[in-house]
Amino acid sequence: MSPSRVDDQPRTNLLYRSLHGRAPEQVVRAKGAYLWLDDGRQILDACAGAAVASIGHGDERVISAVTEQLTQLSYHHTSRLTNPAAEALAAKLVGHRPGGLSNAIFLSSGSEANESAIKLARQYHVEIGQPERVHIISRHNSYHGNSIGCVSLTGIPSRRQHFLPLLMPNTSRISPCYPYRYQKEGETDAQYAVRCAAELEAEILRVGENRVAAFFVETVVGAAAGNITPVPGYFQAMRRVCDKYGVLLVLDEVMCGMGRSGKLHCWEWEGVVPDIQTIGKGLNGGYQALSAVLMSERVIAGLRSGSGCFANGQTFQCHPAAAAAGLAVMSIFESEAIVQNCAKRGAELRAALETAFGDHPHVGEIRGRGLFQSLEFVGDRKTKSTFPVDLPLASLLDNAIFNRGVSVYSGFGKGTADGVRGDHILLSPPLNITSEEIKELVQALKQGVDDVFATPEVQEAV
Ligand code: PMP
Repeated sequence: MSPSRVDDQPRTNLLYRSLHGRAPEQVVRAKGAYLWLDDGRQILDACAGAAVASIGHGDERVISAVTEQLTQLSYHHTSRLTNPAAEALAAKLVGHRPGGLSNAIFLSSGSEANESAIKLARQYHVEIGQPERVHIISRHNSYHGNSIGCVSLTGIPSRRQHFLPLLMPNTSRISPCYPYRYQKEGETDAQYAVRCAAELEAEILRVGENRVAAFFVETVVGAAAGNITPVPGYFQAMRRVCDKYGVLLVLDEVMCGMGRSGKLHCWEWEGVVPDIQTIGKGLNGGYQALSAVLMSERVIAGLRSGSGCFANGQTFQCHPAAAAAGLAVMSIFESEAIVQNCAKRGAELRAALETAFGDHPHVGEIRGRGLFQSLEFVGDRKTKSTFPVDLPLASLLDNAIFNRGVSVYSGFGKGTADGVRGDHILLSPPLNITSEEIKELVQALKQGVDDVFATPEVQEAV
């Protein structure tokens, strides 16, 4: 299919996701929680890019820190050398051994962090004399990144389908903990957690008791299905199974971590510390490209007992300017109590969403933690029916809300063999958003949603 109208022709030499329809608008400036487009429109960035701009845009303190770093040292290779900014950022993140996490490596994207985590989990088992552990279990309705290793773990069929023959062998997916859709009538949270853990155990036994290297999971599912938040006790139950079979627990906190949930690390909600954790996005708020893998003393001891080094290295790892931005953002987190603000504003956002959408006939669930909240849309609240796949509800909502001046992160529903989910709108504004901005956000969101449900196209589908 080719673009049908002249004004549909892409005005870009960049290849974005779709060659059909309109090219994306250009954003030319940003400050705080707002973006400005080339046509002069001002947009409230209610998704902080994609949960990236944790302290908002254009903060002069971070810009100065990066400029200063680039003036002093713009780059070095890490084969022999290290740099003060990366050392200081690692010390800030794991110097106090949170839950036994003791070491870090810095990369440039969440995908690279997860790719490195896959390799680290595998190498750990080789080093401790268990090379038969080759298998990784992840979950349906998950997103772990863009590279072949990450797509191999990702549980979104549309992300996998073109690449299936190239994907890693030795991976499999189990159900997510998705109470809205999969907790049974009358089942308690504890019972549901036990049922999820039993599924993990059954999968480990199916693969082979000594063959699984890692269980790879987002602590709160982000973009894949809109803030799927596990029931209390889920991670404790999963951890017990991992420990029973010597499987490493890898938590992907690229999206849900670094304060977004109202706690610095999302695993703090249940106190279950991973063996390996990945972070990115909000770590330096997007001022430079930065992600990290954090690892526990157990993993480090494993490496130490063997070759003593991680067989992983990239040209831009531990980049001084990216680390300097991370340090500046972390220092603002501390001086402005950003995580605490997130918890407070998150409660306000949630309350405002409940007021605006609590009775909406097509909002099935409002869920999430902190400033990481989603609305899941359904045809019917009783049956939780999803919308027809040929109705691009998520895009319609995204566009209508954008036209009302707010940028959100939307995702399509689906119903396939590996699960059902509804179309959703994800909100992940800067963690220092104000109460006033939250009011503006929810008002525009309500108007945009109303605009879409008033269209004949959607009226017909419901
Ligand atoms: N993991 C999760 C949970 C994510 O949300 C993302 C990005 N949306 C990634 C990994 C990949 O990060 P990146 O796009 O920076 O490679």
